Order: sequence, then C-alpha cells, then structure tokens
Amino acid sequence: MSLLRKITEIRPKRVVVVLGAGVSTAAGRSDFYGMAKLLRPGEDLEYIWSASGFSADPSRWYELAGQAGLFDPVMPTQVHRLLGVLDDLTILHKVITQNIDGLEQGLPVKRLIRFHGGLTTAHCPRCDRKYDGAVMRPPSGWKHGVYVPRCECKLPAVPIRPDVVLYGEDPNWANRESAEKALEECDLLLILGASMRTKPAGDLWRSVG
Ligand SMILES: [Zn+2]
Repeated sequence: MSLLRKITEIRPKRVVVVLGAGVSTAAGRSDFYGMAKLLRPGEDLEYIWSASGFSADPSRWYELAGQAGLFDPVMPTQVHRLLGVLDDLTILHKVITQNIDGLEQGLPVKRLIRFHGGLTTAHCPRCDRKYDGAVMRPPSGWKHGVYVPRCECKLPAVPIRPDVVLYGEDPNWANRESAEKALEECDLLLILGASMRTKPAGDLWRSVG
C-alpha cells in the first residue's frame, strides 16, 4: 500500500485520521445524499432524521435506515485495514469520524472520537437500558412490515433508539474538545473521504498544531 509506505517514511509518532462520508460510501453505505433519493414526495430527511421526527414516527426512521443499508454488515475497506496497521504500529493516535456506521469498529475505543455517535449501540429512551446495535436489525425471516425494536421495560413497549446524534440534538462537546486536543498533539494528519466543509468537524483543521 503506497500510502502506508509514504506514512512510514515520514516516521510519525502520533497520526490522527479524520474519516468523512466518502469512506462509508466506498464501503457501500448510503450517505445523506444517497438517503435523500429514497424519500417519498414531500418528505423532509432532516425532519425524519431529527429527534422530534424519530419520536413522532420511529417506524419511518427504521424503514429509511434499513433501505439505506445502514444495518447491513459491510466488508471493511482498505481505509479500515490501514487504520488497523497504523494501530498495530502503535502510531495511531486518534480517529475522528462523523460517520455513524461503525466501520472503524475493531479499533480500541480510546482511539475513537465519534462526533455523531454510532449505530453500533442503542438504548431505551425510557429506562436507559443499553443494547448492542444488532438489536436494530430485523430478525431473519421478518415479514411483518417495518421492524422497530422495542424495550419492554414497561408496557406499552417503547422504540429503542440508536446512539446517534439526531438533528436538533447537541453534539457531544467533549468529543470536540478531544478532537481539538488530538489535532494539537498529532505530527501527521490524514483526512480521508472528507471535504471538511460540514460542521462541526469542518473547522477543526484550525486546531492543527
Ligand atoms: Zn426500557
């Protein structure tokens, strides 16, 4: 891998990698633009993907996420293999991502800064019970319409929600501080699949020391 060769030639000690949507689309995932193509006439993706939209109609959120393949297992790409190698070389400092697909899974959690959370975990908004993200996948052979996972802590059962930041919700500001600190500390920054035009990560490059 020529990129890896170039990286090792520089002999960095602390590499920070910023992952953008391009990394996910290369792995076959729909990004926001891909999902917009799945909308019915008159639908607003920002509303469906918002906290209030999810509360009002979780079924539509799950339907759209399922159609976009967000719950499907995906084979890791070269980018994800590169991250693994950098980690093995003990030069991977942090991975900063706005993606929610969890493709960077397998790396130590302490290396990850996920601005928008991830679909790898979920929780019950009523009792706060934690779930593995697999709970959001329809059981095999499911033929009863849109599958909405529910927590039965108390009836009526409430929809489980993914641990992602939805529109209208505050991003995790501690993540932002961690990302700024990581960028100050790094001696090599790799930006992969990101235009860096989308907030909140888009203006992070100012923190590079
Ligand atoms: Zn519950």
